[in-house]
Amino acid sequence: MATATARARSPKRYAKTYKDIPAVQAVCRAVGHKWAMNDIVPGKPLPRGLRSVRQADGSSRLTDTCKRGCGKQRTISTFPGGVFDADAPYGYTQTRDWVTLDEGFRPSPREILAGIMMSVELTP
Ligand SMILES: [Zn+2]
Repeated sequence: MATATARARSPKRYAKTYKDIPAVQAVCRAVGHKWAMNDIVPGKPLPRGLRSVRQADGSSRLTDTCKRGCGKQRTISTFPGGVFDADAPYGYTQTRDWVTLDEGFRPSPREILAGIMMSVELTP
């Protein structure tokens, strides 16, 4: 059986500068994750990246993986019968290579975006 991607509830690596944040993770920190759930269209199959597993109590556990590939996943459970619970909390996990920000390094999303944009060639 194939091994699942190693996931962890607590990150193991810490960023003290912008250069410590992997590029795809920097984009998600700047503009938010690209959740598959945002692509749901009633009457269509669940979008790729969103998995639903029925639980013993009749509820469904939805697992949503960031489509940008940053390593974040979030899960949420429905009411029994599959009715979405808008008040249910999301649980988050990440791959083991996820980098969290060090306590002394807390740039805003806009500051991270500025760092990204400075490293991109914008002139055609
Ligand atoms: Zn992401």
